[in-house]
Amino acid sequence: MDDQDLVDVYDDGAGGFPEYDWNSAPKGLLVTRRQLRAAGLSPGGHGPVAQLRCRRCSYRPLTECTHLAWLYDVGLAKPKRTATLAQEWALDRAMAARQTCPVPACRRRYTFCLPLKTLGSCLECHDGTPADPRTYYAPTAPVIHRLAA
Ligand SMILES: [Zn+2]
Repeated sequence: MDDQDLVDVYDDGAGGFPEYDWNSAPKGLLVTRRQLRAAGLSPGGHGPVAQLRCRRCSYRPLTECTHLAWLYDVGLAKPKRTATLAQEWALDRAMAARQTCPVPACRRRYTFCLPLKTLGSCLECHDGTPADPRTYYAPTAPVIHRLAA
């Protein structure tokens, strides 16, 4: 955080916001706009919920402080950017783990999440109920390394 987060405040104390000294703001809960942006978040249509007294003024009486940083509630913030490819890939990996039958002879990926916590496999592996071919993808063939060692 730096001086670009600071705004001039002329109606000091009239805003009704809770105020925090430089180092006393709840960490990870209230952040400046700059920190929000750095985390890929936007205020999500919500205004600031608190004020942070600037470093210099933290050592002076409140009435002398004319520089405040707005603090935003992380819980109200919204993702600013669409997911990056890396994030989508990670998401797909997470989904694949929940949709793929872990039985080695099966390894089919279904179009829905499997009851892995209770059954530990797809229905067909669990009790022989034939799986609808439209609900899974054939397992990908194992990669064969043809390069000579
Ligand atoms: Zn299975």
